[in-house]
Amino acid sequence: MSKREKSVNALESPVTEVAAEFPERHVLIKCPGCRRVIDQSKLEENLDVCPRCGRHLRVSGRKRMRITVDAGSFEEWDRELAATDFLEFPGYPEKLDAAREKSHENDAVLCGRGRIGGRDCALFFMNAEFMMGSMGAVVGEKITRTFERATELGLPVVGFTVSGGARMQEGTTSLMQMAKISAAVRRHAEAGLLYLTVLTDPTTGGVTASFAMEGDVILAEPGALVGFAGPRVVEQTTHKKLPAGFQRSEFLLEHGFCDLIVERSQMAATIAELLALHAGEAPAPGAPHALAYEEPRGKRGGRPRRAVEPQGAYDIVKLTRSADRATALELIERSLDGFVELHGDRLFADDAAVVAGIGWRGGRVLTVIAIERGHTTKERMRRNFGMAHPEGYRKALRLMRQAEKFGRPVLCLVDTSGAYCGIGAEERGQGEAIATNLVEMSGLTVPVVSAIVGEGGSGGALGLAVADRVLMLGSSAYSVVSPEGCASILWKDPKRAADAAEALHITAEDLRALGLVDAVVPDAGLSATEVAHDLMREVELCLDELEGLSAEELVGRRYDKFRAMGGDHLCSRL
Ligand SMILES: [Zn+2]
Repeated sequence: MSKREKSVNALESPVTEVAAEFPERHVLIKCPGCRRVIDQSKLEENLDVCPRCGRHLRVSGRKRMRITVDAGSFEEWDRELAATDFLEFPGYPEKLDAAREKSHENDAVLCGRGRIGGRDCALFFMNAEFMMGSMGAVVGEKITRTFERATELGLPVVGFTVSGGARMQEGTTSLMQMAKISAAVRRHAEAGLLYLTVLTDPTTGGVTASFAMEGDVILAEPGALVGFAGPRVVEQTTHKKLPAGFQRSEFLLEHGFCDLIVERSQMAATIAELLALHAGEAPAPGAPHALAYEEPRGKRGGRPRRAVEPQGAYDIVKLTRSADRATALELIERSLDGFVELHGDRLFADDAAVVAGIGWRGGRVLTVIAIERGHTTKERMRRNFGMAHPEGYRKALRLMRQAEKFGRPVLCLVDTSGAYCGIGAEERGQGEAIATNLVEMSGLTVPVVSAIVGEGGSGGALGLAVADRVLMLGSSAYSVVSPEGCASILWKDPKRAADAAEALHITAEDLRALGLVDAVVPDAGLSATEVAHDLMREVELCLDELEGLSAEELVGRRYDKFRAMGGDHLCSRL
């Protein structure tokens, strides 16, 4: 047996489900997570999630379909398609026979259309019971047809993945299914349609290296093994013991490769909410609200701001750094309904300093991207004090591109002393990440409004502020350098920060007079709720106007706006 076969077989049975018949006909199953014995009927009631330890056990594609789609709404496509042994591969016909008998299916994927939470979509459910969800010509063909039909019908695609990888018994033809499906995914994307994947245990090999990772939104079940190479292959190649949790969903989230981890009991409701947000239709009244905040904030931040009248520019800077001030996330909480936070840059990590997601405001769905500095010391540390890494800017860009695909306006809330200055940040291209955002934001074909809601620190702020309208709260500042930095660099005296703050002209009113920002939203003495209300009213006015413009006009005017900053009127001739 080759190494590869060993690893695939290992995936087929990493756990043994011990079933025993008892006189009262109870079937008992040993949970592979906690090793406790559970009554099968109890397990089934709990959607095959261990009631003791929460382990999500594998379920067949057909069962997955039943627990996900609205009852009676599923219409199956291409059930009759079945694999042939076109390479006359030794033992393949017998394997196919055994898989058909075990699974009562013709191959390893179930496709069709149906409704989730009342919303129409095309669907595929891979099936671990059929040769561990291995992908040959039939899986490739059925999934490709699903994307083609969805494109024709204008439907989103929701797909559940589980697979040991490409099917060896069909040779290189199996490999090519990765390319074939991906091309169909692209056409579906070009039609502006949503593709949502759900990664389940295990998703590996050629499926991970193709359509599993191609979703606009990628959800994962808790604890699912997801990777390109199986853990045994990685261990054999590197001769290293793998860390606990390696390649599990939580590892994926931390490394920026999925948006959310969702419990099985919440999966259908979560998908329904995401489908609703992408359809631009408000959720049905009484629909379960699957995704509350990642981090419920309670009543914090509701108290009035310090009613101290700032005396000068430096007082305003100090005010922006005050712990009393509402953070960006608190403003979002007070402004949007059904905000769903999405995670990850799909490259390296999820940066907690940048919060990004989708939510409702009035009749609109907005993509919101915010730099969050946090309140408590613990939270501030987790958020890196609102200093984003390159991953934060790349997550922002990923979601701005998505906003463009789905025609959603973008709102950025900026509150940062600057982009993070660190070794890792430089290694991973902090400058490149910000630079790319400036180019991409200048060409986004959807309206972009940015608001400086605290400190607007240099390039780290601008990386989210190349916008059609730039707003500032009255007690915010926006500067090329911190006053302390300026005083210390120019005058070798950080104590002259107040002088520097005046000299730099960094207050909202000064910047509006200079034509660098469009409007100032007063916030002195207001509570967080009042600030959020006033700010969002201004944002909505901007969007009302911007949405009347064609993409070409929008991009053209954005160009002209930044083109005019520091132009001829500020240049003399010698
Ligand atoms: Zn358990």
